[in-house]
Amino acid sequence: MKNTIEENQMNSTDYQAVWAECLEYVKDKIPNHTYETWFQPIKAASMTKDDLFLQVPNKFFYDWIESHYKELMGQAIKSATGDGMTINYSVMLSDIPEEIKSDPSHTALNQTITPRIREKPKTEDSLTGSGFLERGTKININYTFDNFIEGRNNQFAKAAAVAVANSPGQTSFSPLVIYGSTGLGKTHLLQAIGNEAMTLGKTKRIAYVSSDTFTLDFIAAIQKNKSTDFSKYYRSVDMLLMDDIQFFQGKESTQEQFFHIFNDLYQHHSQIVLTTDRPPMKLQGLQDRMLSRFQAGLTVDIQPPDLETRIAILQKKAEHDNLDIPYKVLEYLATNIRSNIRELEGAMIRLLAYSSLLQVDIDISLTQKILREIGTGKPTLSISIEDIQKQVGKVYDINLDLMVGKSRKKEIAEARMTAMYFARELTNLSLKNIGLYFGGRDHSTVVHACKWVESRTNKDEQYKRFIYNIRQKIETKA
Ligand code: ADP
Ligand code: MG
Repeated sequence: MKNTIEENQMNSTDYQAVWAECLEYVKDKIPNHTYETWFQPIKAASMTKDDLFLQVPNKFFYDWIESHYKELMGQAIKSATGDGMTINYSVMLSDIPEEIKSDPSHTALNQTITPRIREKPKTEDSLTGSGFLERGTKININYTFDNFIEGRNNQFAKAAAVAVANSPGQTSFSPLVIYGSTGLGKTHLLQAIGNEAMTLGKTKRIAYVSSDTFTLDFIAAIQKNKSTDFSKYYRSVDMLLMDDIQFFQGKESTQEQFFHIFNDLYQHHSQIVLTTDRPPMKLQGLQDRMLSRFQAGLTVDIQPPDLETRIAILQKKAEHDNLDIPYKVLEYLATNIRSNIRELEGAMIRLLAYSSLLQVDIDISLTQKILREIGTGKPTLSISIEDIQKQVGKVYDINLDLMVGKSRKKEIAEARMTAMYFARELTNLSLKNIGLYFGGRDHSTVVHACKWVESRTNKDEQYKRFIYNIRQKIETKA
């Protein structure tokens, strides 16, 4: 079997040349902008007699190309090889999000995994989960420190991550726990640690795994009588990067297993880095002894980025992907999507998609259209100022009349400023309108309030956590 694959496989210059010719063909047929957006990022992976294997950055690309350029692709192949060929797409491997991998409706993608993986000998008793047998394939080389934009919101987390990558297990930061809401760069930072440590040659064996994959693997290992192998594997690494440990909540026996592995690694000075979507002490259903182990290391948070950082992230992304998007548009996007970078990037991709589909320029009016679309049904954008006033009022124990009234008592004034700050952060209301909701105050009062909260969060770690907790309450309407 293996031989046939090798015989069929052409050498790399062949398929690179074929793909280059396809690109030439395509380039002449479509606008330059479309070409750069959808075709330039595609990589040829390999070729056999009848198949060409291409890699695309994400599933969205694949859908887009299949639905818009299938015919063009066919023509391109024909022109390059004089013959028809089947095109097989795969998502650049480490980029496939878990939810897509496990979603049966994406079978097309699941079947066309890269030949590299296809050749891997399949043993009868391989584990089912996406588990420790696939080690080494999980770190995404695109997540580096280099393209992680630093802002006030993540500076400390990044500094700790860099320190750990430079001296794994040698700092007092083990475990390093990184927490923050979804889409703020935890996974990026975690993987950047892995990439950097590998590049520097600081570690021999790294395991990157999310806690739910770990759980699935553990269950599969028990079923297959392989739990010793399972634990041996994790105990043999010198760096364990565990993503999203909130999924351990309530899973007693997996936690037990993790606890033993954790202790073992800890004693051997292996570096452990964990991420979670909330502060560790807020992880319910996690055993106390585990929590107290976390306290032995360092816990750092990532907050939502401010406007400048959001713009910088978009600029970096645009630059990295060779996209030509006017600054005004990036600024507009960054102003309107505030609390989640994943959504921010998603909006940018959607913008590109629309512009190439409709053959129109990327400008503010197209951006507004996109934002209106994304806005529908998204909980982050549906927070009302009343929600904010109510939640902040609860925390400070004051009612709405006091909140919007004239009192200058310290507690009340502070509650008011905090609510104004969140109104600015979490709604799309103008400063003027926010002022109106607070008893007809002036817009400069709102600006002052925001500055006050921001400067205090920068100085006072405890206050910062306090603000973080309020934000979570508002966002979840708890
Ligand atoms: P989380 O794991 O916290 O949910 P991710 O690490 O998956 O978030 O980040 C979501 C997206 O935002 C990723 O594409 C990531 O590269 C990007 N991102 C987040 N923070 C930054 C940053 N500071 N600089 C550049 N890109 C970022
Ligand atoms: Mg993540």
